[in-house]
Amino acid sequence: MAFANQANTTRNGIDWAGIGWLYLFFWYFSGLNHVLLQFTGTTIFFGFRQALFMSLLWLVPVLLFPHKTKAITAVIGLVLWFFSLFSLGYFCIYGQEFSQSVIFIIFESNQAESSEYVAQYFVWWMIPALLVYSAVAIYLWRRVRPVFLPRGLAWAASLLILVFLFGYPIYRQAVVKEAPFERVREQIEDRMEPAVPWQMVIGYLHYREQLGNMQDLLLANAKVPPIANLIDANAGQPATLVLVIGESTNRQHMSLYGHPRQTTPKLDAMRDQLLVFNNVFSPRPYTIETLQQVLTFADQENPDWYLTRPSIMNMMKQAGYQTYWITNQQTMTKRNTMLTTFSQQTDKQFYLNNSRAQNSRQYDDDVLEPFQQILSDPAPRKFIVVHLLGTHMKYEYRYPPEYERFTNRDGVPPALTDEQAAIYNTYDNAVLFNDHVVSSLIEDLAATKSKSMLVYLSDHGEDVFDSAGHKMLGRNEGAPTVPMYAIPFIVWSSDAWRATHPMDFGRTVLDRRYSTSDFIYTWADLVGMRFDDFDSSKSLIGKDFKELPLFDER
Ligand SMILES: [Zn+2]
Repeated sequence: MAFANQANTTRNGIDWAGIGWLYLFFWYFSGLNHVLLQFTGTTIFFGFRQALFMSLLWLVPVLLFPHKTKAITAVIGLVLWFFSLFSLGYFCIYGQEFSQSVIFIIFESNQAESSEYVAQYFVWWMIPALLVYSAVAIYLWRRVRPVFLPRGLAWAASLLILVFLFGYPIYRQAVVKEAPFERVREQIEDRMEPAVPWQMVIGYLHYREQLGNMQDLLLANAKVPPIANLIDANAGQPATLVLVIGESTNRQHMSLYGHPRQTTPKLDAMRDQLLVFNNVFSPRPYTIETLQQVLTFADQENPDWYLTRPSIMNMMKQAGYQTYWITNQQTMTKRNTMLTTFSQQTDKQFYLNNSRAQNSRQYDDDVLEPFQQILSDPAPRKFIVVHLLGTHMKYEYRYPPEYERFTNRDGVPPALTDEQAAIYNTYDNAVLFNDHVVSSLIEDLAATKSKSMLVYLSDHGEDVFDSAGHKMLGRNEGAPTVPMYAIPFIVWSSDAWRATHPMDFGRTVLDRRYSTSDFIYTWADLVGMRFDDFDSSKSLIGKDFKELPLFDER
């Protein structure tokens, strides 16, 4: 009797080791993936923690029905094993976390493309890795044993797990924060998503939801009337026009704009080929809200016009350009669906970022290959949007190790603490890598020797302890500072382009104070387009340009 009970509840207490084996078995299927993601420094800690928590859920059935432990663990284990193969396989191939954006890409690309991918990335060691992974799962299953708790305790423990995983978070959101049902649901889903099998289940639900939103927005855009009397000075002539949208880059951190550290050596070197506008600001400090204005006729007075008026993408298509969109930003997250909708207004898209969390490692130089691919496309008239991840948080995830050049306090404002200085350094390193990416895009375009032009601007800036007091990190519209809005705005053009589009703007033009909420007029002006509603006072290079009022007047 004593022997039979050895592994179970004994007189003096609970079989903690038994619970440990059960938990380890359930955690293994989500946890290994998150250990690998953490070990390779791929993403933030949230997913790892949630996988730890969510694995507790499976203890509930085995604690309530200990006699069926072997059967329950076998069934749950099989399901978890099966779903974990997707996330692990994805990690093996791409070194990244599986997310709803991956599902989007899978459904976006056709079957042949998908199987090509798998064939291209399949490596022999994946088979033994799969076998070892599965063998460890079987080993853990064999160690699993029933844990017989007194009935009351088993129920109490199960209830505690459910309250911890769902009850308390729901209470905190719905009651304490008085969040609407939608928000509560979102919170719970976000907490479950990092664990198998939820990353597939919830990922798919999120994908369907965002796809629906996107289709509504695209349908609305399809009903937008064309631009009236659009006249293109280059009609029928070959040209390659590129719009590079940066991310969270404050021009005050670029040596091109006078930053004491040499953070933009490559752009500095090509300065005489660039128009560097010194006084351009974003209308809002947030990506989506800004780009709704930058890319369309919407502005601060009419922020909803992006729904009812044409976009730059619509304009370029109407003028007969073949249009492309390369993005290194996330696609099917709730916030970014708007961006994906904009991208879908072009003819061809390249989605490069499938991370679940925005704060994941992702380098912008991956836009260069699709950019080359488009440049060699035989279409004579091309319009290309390149949307970078730029210098978005976390800064240290934005550049490869060889760009870690700023590591000490030289050039750091003395008021910063060591901790702040370390972040300041990672931001400057990210700006340095951004310099490499933007200058490479210009070099690649220049190498085509075609009639071409490129505009680079950032969506908004970023305060990296720059403003007075040196306390602010990031952006906050409630407490605005200049660094959150001060953006780089540069124009490069080829000799062939300048032969028909003189670009000799003087100092007074380069110093104009301007908000990118009116960018569509500047773009139209730069590329030689006119239409009924064209307003040259809203063009940065316009003849009767009207300067943006100072910040406090807005
Ligand atoms: Zn942004």
